[in-house]
Amino acid sequence: MWRATVLTIFPDMFPGPLAQSLAGKALTSRVWSLDSVDIRAHATDKHRTVDDTPAGGGPGMVMKADVLARALDAVPHDTRARLMMSPRGTRLTQNRVAELAHGLGAVIVCARFEGVDERLIKARRMEEVSLGDFVLSGGEIAALALLDACVRLLPGVMGREASAAEESFADGLLEYPQYTRPPVFEGEPIPEILTSGDHKKVKAWRLAEAERLTAERRPDLWQAYRARKSLKNRPESKG
Ligand code: SAH
Repeated sequence: MWRATVLTIFPDMFPGPLAQSLAGKALTSRVWSLDSVDIRAHATDKHRTVDDTPAGGGPGMVMKADVLARALDAVPHDTRARLMMSPRGTRLTQNRVAELAHGLGAVIVCARFEGVDERLIKARRMEEVSLGDFVLSGGEIAALALLDACVRLLPGVMGREASAAEESFADGLLEYPQYTRPPVFEGEPIPEILTSGDHKKVKAWRLAEAERLTAERRPDLWQAYRARKSLKNRPESKG
């Protein structure tokens, strides 16, 4: 069973949307498990304080290293990835999601306020993970998104195993455009090749479209894809 432990001051936000649909079914059938730990339960004063003013001054509050360390240290020690959701982290990619899904699970810290005391991040060797170049008000929604991405890759969760192999990012390309009935929508027909029944041609069209879209929309992915392809096609050197 793939195990997720989430540390948060809003434990009621979990499983939240992950109780529905594919992830929800997989949760009930114990393909994965989810524990949410209330960071506040690890505070020691009577006000259950988890944050304090930033050293050096400035706006906002900072999550205290000592309280968070106690919360983390109470999670049974194992080899699961230890993630800290943070806009300063490494941008999450489908590759990292797949690696995480292949592992035992994840321990995820959701921060609030201005973030977490830097000493905690260092001392507990947290891997900082970002969802993208924007700022959320807390790590919870980021953690839900990360968990959703991982859980759908666990064996048996998606209807057809093949759907993961063909979708966006699987081969470093964005996915080709999709169509379904009706055959004509507001005067626009489905591209003819897709209704031709010629599987070879369909495959070639989809690859060409995926390449076109990637080149247009994501020059970064396109460059990496082309570099990889020409490496693969290069004959083995006999040195
Ligand atoms: N002051 C911080 C932002 C804090 S936002 C800064 O400027 O970097 C509060 C918390 O929300 C963060 O600590 C993090 O846990 C979460 N968060 C915000 N944006 C995020 C993002 N893009 N990816 C992942 N987590 C994010």
